[in-house]
Amino acid sequence: MNVIDIFRRTGALLEGHFQLSSGLHSPGYMQCALVLQNPAEAETCGRAIADAVRGLGATVVLAPALGGIVIGHEVGRALGVRAIFAERQNGTLTLRRGFTLATDDTVLVVEDVVTTGGSTRETIAVARAEGAVVVGAASIIDRSGGNPGLDVPFHALGTVALPTYQPDACPLCAAGTAAIKPGSRTPAP
Ligand code: ZN
Repeated sequence: MNVIDIFRRTGALLEGHFQLSSGLHSPGYMQCALVLQNPAEAETCGRAIADAVRGLGATVVLAPALGGIVIGHEVGRALGVRAIFAERQNGTLTLRRGFTLATDDTVLVVEDVVTTGGSTRETIAVARAEGAVVVGAASIIDRSGGNPGLDVPFHALGTVALPTYQPDACPLCAAGTAAIKPGSRTPAP
């Protein structure tokens, strides 16, 4: 399975000038929601991730909201384990809605896209704060350049080498265009 083909086919590989959730700017954006809106594509991606990480022995999938929820649920379905998510409350990623992790839980963190690894590390910290063991992390797309900076095994279905820039060093900004926050259609502040 070539996940990049799925992105091309579903129009989820966008070109322009974007501000990523990490704050970095980029000429390319992987809009996973456009892939995952198709349940069959979501299931395919979830099953492929599950096949790659089954040996880690996760007993629960933990995903950061919103981007990780759909793919996390599909990975949980394929592994036959619970799928829960963490979400921000006053800026801090946390478990809500009665979701719990126990010290005998082994956690797989699942994301849609990993760029800097920042939100993955935050999600790992949420699990560890509950006393659970994090056995690995996975995503549909790796934009980190092969270095997500994680201290657990990491697997991505596809690696994409799209450049990213600090906003003050962005050549697209220097050329005078405004960065768009994907999904919002409004220029980034
Ligand atoms: Zn820019």
